[in-house]
Amino acid sequence: MPDMKEPPVLAPETRIVHHPYIPPAGFLAPQPGVFKASTVIFPNVAAMRSREWKDKSGYTYGLHGTPTTFILEERLCALEGGLQCVLVPSGLAAIANVALALLGPGDEVLIPDNAYGPGKDLAQGELARFGVRHVLYDPLDPADLAARITAATRLVWLEAPGSVTLEFPDLCEQVRICRERGVVTALDNTWGAGLAFAPFDLAGDGSGSLAVDISVHALTKYPSGGGDVLMGSVITRDPALHMKIKLTHMRLGLGVGANDAEAVLRALPSVGLRYRAHDVAARQLALWMQEQPAVAQVLHPALPGSPGYAHWQGLCGAANAGEGAAAGLFSVVMDARHGQAQVDAFCDALRLFKLGYSWGGPMSLVVPYQLSAMRSRPVPHLRPGTLVRFSVGLEALEDLRQDLQQALHGAFGTA
Ligand SMILES: *Cc1c(COP(=O)(O)O)cnc(C)c1O
Repeated sequence: MPDMKEPPVLAPETRIVHHPYIPPAGFLAPQPGVFKASTVIFPNVAAMRSREWKDKSGYTYGLHGTPTTFILEERLCALEGGLQCVLVPSGLAAIANVALALLGPGDEVLIPDNAYGPGKDLAQGELARFGVRHVLYDPLDPADLAARITAATRLVWLEAPGSVTLEFPDLCEQVRICRERGVVTALDNTWGAGLAFAPFDLAGDGSGSLAVDISVHALTKYPSGGGDVLMGSVITRDPALHMKIKLTHMRLGLGVGANDAEAVLRALPSVGLRYRAHDVAARQLALWMQEQPAVAQVLHPALPGSPGYAHWQGLCGAANAGEGAAAGLFSVVMDARHGQAQVDAFCDALRLFKLGYSWGGPMSLVVPYQLSAMRSRPVPHLRPGTLVRFSVGLEALEDLRQDLQQALHGAFGTA
């Protein structure tokens, strides 16, 4: 009979799976470690039964968080001025997580008419199917927003500025109206990225007296910075609101992968420098485009005359020693005398600006848009013509300017 007190001699394949070595604690380095798990091991049944996953006091399952995702959540809270964060697999999943956490049959959600398109599609698809009504409001008219809030309104989406036409709303007034009416506000803060303005301190005095309730961020854009990661965050300051979002997050299974979290953690320290570089270059190119004969209108919130410029100035104008802060996006309306085919040829002629969706990475991108299909109402503040959006990357400014020049010349015979 073998001696039952002696542990059995394990085969090599078992020994490598159940290896007892634990490295010394206290490892510190500039970047946090990357912890990967679906399964998390408990020391005993009591721990398994009692461990709480909701408050980050312990680990239960990879979907509920690891040290890597907890660290990223805390750093994103620091970036945006929030207190709680959930990570989701894309910016759109963040929008969906908020909607599904807060809305039910008979409820209404208000969405700005210039909002990120796939968010509207969610409202027209799943939300409508689940009995949630959505109403589009004019982002440039706070009175229109106020008039559309009803007893059934549970959530108001805000976007500053709209991500294609870049009108900057009177965000402070919009939030004031919603607060007065007791309606939850959710800001799509992808453009501001926590850098252009503080979503939880819109008064800018540190008091938090004027704040959105929820800030949603497509980390896919500037925080990732590489054009190679999809991720989103939902940040709040109210524990009860956070818990609603977190419970829905858990029930929908919206976890993120450790390698993606690592990529965002790696890029996050340079987000401020990159954002500023994109901003400086985009403004130069926007100004230059304004002088070109083929261009009827340039849309960039920091450009005097662009829709909502004064609101941008009020909220973001003090940053960077009075130069203000803005993302590296601008759109142009090509003069109506040039048809869609000519504008398409202009986009095709660009060599450095690549045709592709999204933004925030090192490579400059361009997308022609058909505005008529994107709006529910007339847009008198936009000149007639064809809309093209540019996302300015990290290439040398003069190379980008020359690229625009050669494409304008090729397509329109000007400049
Ligand atoms: C890109 C984007 C999103 C969605 O992000 P994904 O990660 O691509 O799903 C949401 N809102 C805005 C304003 C965006 O630009």
